Amino acid sequence: MHIDVLTIFPEMIEGVMNASILKKAQEKEKFNYNLVNFRDYSENRHMKVDDYPYGGGAGMVLTPQPLFDAVDAVTSGKQSKPRVILLCPQGEPYTQQKAEELAEEDHLVFICGHYEGYDERIREHLVTDEISIGDYVLTGGELGAMVVIDSIVRLLPDVLGNEASAPEDSFSTGLLEHPHYTRPADFRGMSVPDVLLSGNHAKIAKWRRQESLKRTYERRRDLLDDHNLSDEDRNFLNEIRQKEY
Ligand code: SAM
Repeated sequence: MHIDVLTIFPEMIEGVMNASILKKAQEKEKFNYNLVNFRDYSENRHMKVDDYPYGGGAGMVLTPQPLFDAVDAVTSGKQSKPRVILLCPQGEPYTQQKAEELAEEDHLVFICGHYEGYDERIREHLVTDEISIGDYVLTGGELGAMVVIDSIVRLLPDVLGNEASAPEDSFSTGLLEHPHYTRPADFRGMSVPDVLLSGNHAKIAKWRRQESLKRTYERRRDLLDDHNLSDEDRNFLNEIRQKEY
C-alpha cells in the first residue's frame, strides 16, 4: 500500500510513522508513505494556502488551488484513481469496518485540514471520503490522519506478528474483547480466574466469549444490536439481564 499525506505540518507525522508497527510495516515493505506539503503547490506569491471567507466571519479557509494541484501531482500517471480522504469533524464517524474497507486499497491520499475549514469545492469535487475521528474538534487533520493510517496498516497482511491478533480485537468481531491476564497467577491477593489456568481450551473459549458479551453489554450495548448472536449468546445475555432486576 502507498499512502500520500497532504499537510502543511509534515513534521507532525514523521515520529508516528517511524515507530512501532508502522515502522515495522515499512521495514517489511507492506506499505510506504510520502509527505506532501501542499504549501509547495501554492501559486500565491507568498505561498499562502488560505484566505478570508466570502461573506465575512471568523477564521481562514483553505483555498482549492494548492490542494487540487497536490492531489493531481500524487495521482498523475496512476492507472486507478485512489481514494482521497478528507479529515473533517463533519465526516463519517470512523469505525473498524471503515478501516477494514480502506485496508483493501493499494493507494490512499489523506488531506489534513487546518484553520476554519475547507473551500466547499474541495469536498464536492476532490475527495472520495470524509472521515471524522470523533465528536470533538482538533486543531488540524494530522492527528486524525495518523489515527486512521495506524488502524489501517495494522490490518495489512503479515504486518502484525503472533503477539497481536487483529481479527480478535475489539470491534473486529463486532464486540468488545474479553479481559486478559498474564503472570503471576496471584498478584497481591488478586487472582486470575481459575478457568484460564485449567488448560481446558473449550472452557476457556466459552469463558472468553461470555466475558466479551458481558463487557459489550455493560459498556457498548449499541454494538449488540447489529451483532449476529447465537442462541447460547442470547441465553447468556438474558441471564445477565435477569440478574440486574
Ligand atoms: N470549523 C470546522 C468545523 O466546525 O467543522 C473545524 C475546523 S478544525 C479547527 C481544523 C481541521 O482539523 C479540520 O479541517 C480537520 O482537518 C481537522 N479536524 C478537526 N476535528 C477533527 C475530527 N474530529 N476528525 C477529523 N479531523 C478533524
